[in-house]
Amino acid sequence: MFYYSLENHKKLVSFEHAVLRGLAPDGSLYFPEKIPILKRQFIQNLSKYDIYTLAMEIITPYIGKEISEESIYSIIHNTLNFPFPLQRIHDNIYVLELFHGPTLAFKDVGAKFMAECLSYFYKKIGKLVTVLVATSGDTGGAVAKGFHKMSGIEVIILYPYKGVSSLQEKQMTSLGKNIYALEIKGDFDDCQNMVKKAFLDKEILEKYRLTSANSINIARWLPQMFYYFLAYRQIKEENKELIFSVPSGNFGNICAGMMSEKMGLPIKYFIASTNINDTIPRFLKTKKYHPTSVKKTISNAMDISNPSNFSRIWYLYKKNMTQLCQKLSSYRFTDEETLAIIEMVWKEHKYMLEPHGAIGYLGLRQYLQNIKSPLAPAVFLETAHPIKFIDSIPLSLRKKISVPEQLKIIFSSNSEKLKTIQIPNDYNIFKNWLIERHK
Ligand SMILES: *Cc1c(COP(=O)(O)O)cnc(C)c1O
Repeated sequence: MFYYSLENHKKLVSFEHAVLRGLAPDGSLYFPEKIPILKRQFIQNLSKYDIYTLAMEIITPYIGKEISEESIYSIIHNTLNFPFPLQRIHDNIYVLELFHGPTLAFKDVGAKFMAECLSYFYKKIGKLVTVLVATSGDTGGAVAKGFHKMSGIEVIILYPYKGVSSLQEKQMTSLGKNIYALEIKGDFDDCQNMVKKAFLDKEILEKYRLTSANSINIARWLPQMFYYFLAYRQIKEENKELIFSVPSGNFGNICAGMMSEKMGLPIKYFIASTNINDTIPRFLKTKKYHPTSVKKTISNAMDISNPSNFSRIWYLYKKNMTQLCQKLSSYRFTDEETLAIIEMVWKEHKYMLEPHGAIGYLGLRQYLQNIKSPLAPAVFLETAHPIKFIDSIPLSLRKKISVPEQLKIIFSSNSEKLKTIQIPNDYNIFKNWLIERHK
């Protein structure tokens, strides 16, 4: 499989090249030159395959022969090593729990998959790879964990000052070794802009073999397709078409869902659910793409106003608003609505949501209120464990949250003291730090 940048379809690069580069040299995102179509028979029999075989079938065409089949299998094996249960909440509404990984975030899958791919390529090229990543919360922890102690790879994480939860900060700053955490006096978009700039900076590129671990990297983005297949195979109905509501920030996850649909997975409709950082809901309504400054919310992993992956979605639907709107709606919700629904779902269904999943559920409800047609099975994604956002859960419910095993591990491995480096919101200072540190 070859990849081109969204801005330049003439220059094709390999999977390895796209993974190592992250962002294309012209500053746009890589995209596969074609989308493989899965056999109908495979889709109809999804539940008969084990998850590794299933994942192999989905991802191998995107890698081709660049990684041996045996190694792809082992990468998948190391990545999908926790459960992805689907629970029925009520009626035809299900939640897909994506938070059973080592950092209790759905990003564990993409981060691990990418770390494994990079480590494979490192063995081939033998040169230190530096992963540069901006995070609004969960990416940092998942990447730190997924890449920790992987030989030949160092990770530099930029996160917004006071923009992440204390647990998230701990996950990024406590590991040490090959993991460096920079606290930037700015918001997530500032962090992301610095990362984007660094990737185009010749002086930095001379010194470093840089790659990004944001969802813009194809090795983090593509494995998220697994979730949609894993949900599908758990719903017993025959000949079903699903509706998915995805709590969205950088729009990587939902875009992977849209790729699954293009590959042949029967998905009827997508809902991109956001907090008040609502550039996409506004875009679908007004046809005007106007990112604003980022507003802080309790669903802080989605405090993003200029979502990188939206360019992939826009391209996937041929930059055609009518086509896009036949498959996608997008709604925004406030913190008040988020808190109220967490309480209501606990009261009525004894299910504990956290703010991101709650927004996913709200989006689904809104959509179902708007349509009158018979209900297809509808799934929202719960992208983090409630314990991670305990400070944003209504006080009366906090005691009801179960404490998962992983959390004990995170805290017990916390003997090392927090390592964070503070950097002002100034690209040149950041750049100097990068250039000087290996002198
Ligand atoms: C990253 C994240 C999201 C948003 O995912 P995108 O792929 O960036 O849209 C939602 N919820 C949580 C908990 C996250 O960490």
